[in-house]
Amino acid sequence: MQPNWQQRSPEIHARFLKIARAKGHLTSELDVLHFLALAICGEAGELANLVKKTWRGDDIDEKRIRDEIADIRIYLEHICRHLGIDLDDACEQKLEEVAARLNAKEQNTP
Ligand SMILES: [Mg+2]
Repeated sequence: MQPNWQQRSPEIHARFLKIARAKGHLTSELDVLHFLALAICGEAGELANLVKKTWRGDDIDEKRIRDEIADIRIYLEHICRHLGIDLDDACEQKLEEVAARLNAKEQNTP
């Protein structure tokens, strides 16, 4: 059975880093962190631009939107791995916190 995308993404990221470092880029761990953080922002911007175009009435292929969302998620996986964070655990914990806040707000809402 072929590994899923999350299992394959470290190898893809390692190959990307190897190429970048051969060109003299991303030579430190901090460089990689900065790159990944900016890449997430860049991909989010690309998604926002497509949503904007859809909003104003342009005909945008849904695949392009799906691709940008995938780019964001893949970079999130990379940055989490780089920082030693389990993204699934982080999301579980964060959703619990958000749910608790919502519960409190709902109790205070007439
Ligand atoms: Mg993209």
